[in-house]
Amino acid sequence: VRYYLNRIAQLKHLNAFLEVYEEEALEKARALDTRLKNGEKLGVLAGVVIGIKDVICYQGHNVSAASHILEGFTSLFSATAVERLLAEDAIIIGNLNCDEFAMGSTNENSAYGPTLNALDNSRVPGGSSGGSAVAVQADLCQVSLGSDTGGSVRQPADFCGIVGLKPTYGRISRYGLIAYASSFDQIGIFGKDIADVASVLQVIAGPDEYDSTASQKEVPDYKANLEDNKTFRFAYLRDAQYHDGLDAEMKEGYIDFFESLQSLGHTVSGKSFEYLDHVVPAYYVLTTAEASSNLSRYDGVKYGHRTPEKNLDLTEFYKKSRSEGFGKEVKRRILLGTFVLSAGYYDAYYTKAQQVRRFVTEKLNDILEEYDAILMPTVPSTAFKLGEKTDDPIAMYLADIYTVLANLAGVPAISVPLYRHSNGMPYGVQIITKKFSEANLLHIAHQVM
Ligand code: GLN
Repeated sequence: VRYYLNRIAQLKHLNAFLEVYEEEALEKARALDTRLKNGEKLGVLAGVVIGIKDVICYQGHNVSAASHILEGFTSLFSATAVERLLAEDAIIIGNLNCDEFAMGSTNENSAYGPTLNALDNSRVPGGSSGGSAVAVQADLCQVSLGSDTGGSVRQPADFCGIVGLKPTYGRISRYGLIAYASSFDQIGIFGKDIADVASVLQVIAGPDEYDSTASQKEVPDYKANLEDNKTFRFAYLRDAQYHDGLDAEMKEGYIDFFESLQSLGHTVSGKSFEYLDHVVPAYYVLTTAEASSNLSRYDGVKYGHRTPEKNLDLTEFYKKSRSEGFGKEVKRRILLGTFVLSAGYYDAYYTKAQQVRRFVTEKLNDILEEYDAILMPTVPSTAFKLGEKTDDPIAMYLADIYTVLANLAGVPAISVPLYRHSNGMPYGVQIITKKFSEANLLHIAHQVM
C-alpha cells in the first residue's frame, strides 16, 4: 500500500485518482497483517490494491461520475462488485477519474480535468475509463475496475498498453454501477496480465439478487486452462482490417500478427461483415436514448447539485439545476436521446437502431459459432493528442467503430497489447468470443499475448 501511495503522490500530475483513501488503505493493510500473524485464513485477493472508476459505488465514499451534478454525493451502499472484492480482502485505494457519466473516449469530458497518458503526457489515455487505465499503466495500483458501454475499458487499455476485459453482458452485476445505457453497461477489469484479470473476474462475476440482468450461470474456473497449449481457429473481419479509417502502419502490423499466429499452427481466416459502418450510428442512437432516460433522475431534488437560485417554478428549477450540473457532452447526449425517442421520430431512429442491433448480433454470432474467436483492432489509431478531437464529436464517435460491436451483441471482448507504433505509442488486438465464454477468451488472450 505504501508503495502505491508513494507512486500516486509522485505521479499526481497524471490526474488519475479523484480521491485516494490513504488512511483507510493503510489501516486495512495493517489489519490484514495482524490476521495473517494470527494464522487466520485470508481472502483470495488479500492485499491486492485496486482502484475503482468513479461510477462504481463504495459505501461511505464519494461517487460523482466525474460530474458536477453529483458533487459531494456519498454512496449509501456498495456495488456488488465492490462488496465481493472487499469480502476477499482486496484493498480499495481510491476512485478514478473518467469521462462524465462514462460518456467519451478521451477522459477530456471529466468535470475534474483530463487524465494524462503516462507514456506521453501530451496524449489522452482514452476513455471513458481513462483514470482506471492510467492507474494500472503507471503502476498506481495493481488492477482496476472500469465500465464498458461501448469500449470504455478496451479502448483506454489499448491506448495505455495494458489488458482490458469487457465481460459478457450479465456476467458481472451492475448493482451499484451508475447507469449510462443499461442494456450495454458492463463492469470491466484492467490489469497488466491475463492472470490478474482472471483472478478479479473470478471474484466479482456471478448471479446477484440485486440485479435481475445478472446471469444465473455458474462461474467457471477462469484460471484452470490458462497455461494449456492449444491451436485455435480465428476469424478476422475483412471489413474491419481493410477499413479506410484504420491507420496504415497498424494495418501492416495486424497482417504480421496474423502470420505469426499461423506459423504457430493456428488458422486465421478472413470473413466478410458488411455491416460495420452501421454499428456506430446504431450504438449512439440506442445509448443516447437509454441515457436520456437514465439521467432524468438527476433533477436537483434527490441528489447532488441544486441551483442556488431562489423563487423558481418547478420546471425552471429542474432546468437550472441540470443546466448547471451537466457538462456539454452529457447535455448533447440527453438532447439526442430525447430526440430519437420523441413520438415523431421513434420509429425512424430508435426502432430502426434496435433492428440493426438484432441483425448485427445474429451475424456476429454466426461467425462466433464457426470459429473460436474473432480478432479485430481495438481502435483504428493510437492515442490521440489532447484536444485533437474535442471539436469534432462525430470523428470522436467514429473511432468507436471496433469496440461497440461487442456491446451491441452483449458478447465478451478483451484488448491485449500487441506492438508499438513508430510514434512510440502502443496498440493492441481485440479478441471476441461467444457469450459467457470468458474462460476461452482469457485462455486465448493468454496464449497470444
Ligand atoms: N466512447 C464510447 C461513448 O462515448 C464508449 C463509452 C463507454 O463505454 N462508457 O459512448
